[in-house]
Amino acid sequence: MSSHEHPLGISFEFFPPNTEAGREKLLGVRDALAERKPRFFSVTYGAGGSTQARTAQTVRTVRECGIETAPHLSCIGSDKGALRELLQQYREEGIRSLVALRGDLPSGMGGIGELRYANELVEFIRQETGDHFNIAVAGYPESHPQAPSFERDLGNFARKAQAGANLAITQYFFNADAYFHFVERATRLGVEVPIIPGIMPITNYTKLARFSDACGADIPRWIRKQLEAYGDDSESIQAFGEDVVSRLCQRLLDGGAPGLHFYTLNQAQATLRILDNLA
Ligand code: FAD
Repeated sequence: MSSHEHPLGISFEFFPPNTEAGREKLLGVRDALAERKPRFFSVTYGAGGSTQARTAQTVRTVRECGIETAPHLSCIGSDKGALRELLQQYREEGIRSLVALRGDLPSGMGGIGELRYANELVEFIRQETGDHFNIAVAGYPESHPQAPSFERDLGNFARKAQAGANLAITQYFFNADAYFHFVERATRLGVEVPIIPGIMPITNYTKLARFSDACGADIPRWIRKQLEAYGDDSESIQAFGEDVVSRLCQRLLDGGAPGLHFYTLNQAQATLRILDNLA
């Protein structure tokens, strides 16, 4: 880590905007967040290749400010030839970091492709490009929704570290103990890479509830009930969300989390307010 980076080791995630207005807004968001000296930005990737070009394009624009920007890359539905080309392209553009995922197959899409799981993707990237890329992988403190058990999922997480990942970023959660438990168990299995908690600022209850059901993140009852009670009162939702998520972040850092990765949803304000609340 160089001296101009944030001592907390923070990072910010964006998605590729699909309108001109969205693209312009993202640049403002990036600039506001760049002032906090993140270690890196990352840009998500639609599985099945739907937004591969847009991810690459967004990465190009975001990294113009000089902050390292990692494209997310998923293997499901792709063949090795296409992945090889994409890796080559990222390499030629001077990109040094990737977030390597299996991804999810959109319904109605064809076969799963040649690489079935993220550990196989990490292995493939290492085979093809040696140590060129810093590779981050996903971790699930509350278990991946398709995992048959916590133990099996943890074992599969460890495979990704063994395959050569440098870093893990977790799915978001609102229960700090789930994170500490996950880190402890992963460490016992020999995982040594930093496991950075993924943080979802709370700004909109309906979207959060829909998203959490899909990705298997638990919204604790006391948070759900309170957010539900606010109804359309978005000011109260935001104030409560800021308080809850700031306390979560503080607990994580106090408990030894090696950084924070924010799912910004291309918005700066909620993330900035949380950062301002941290000691
Ligand atoms: P894997 O690690 O491959 O795990 C998937 C499932 O398979 C788990 O249930 C696991 O237990 C099991 N498994 C893993 N390896 C094996 C094995 N070798 N044998 C048998 N079973 C195995 N999705 C996107 O589409 N685009 C994105 O940009 C994106 N970014 C994300 C960023 C982060 C930080 C996180 C946490 C998630 C992100 N996702 C993204 C969601 C992710 O693609 C989904 O959660 C997906 O279902 C799993 O991807 P994975 O890389 O965790 O898969």
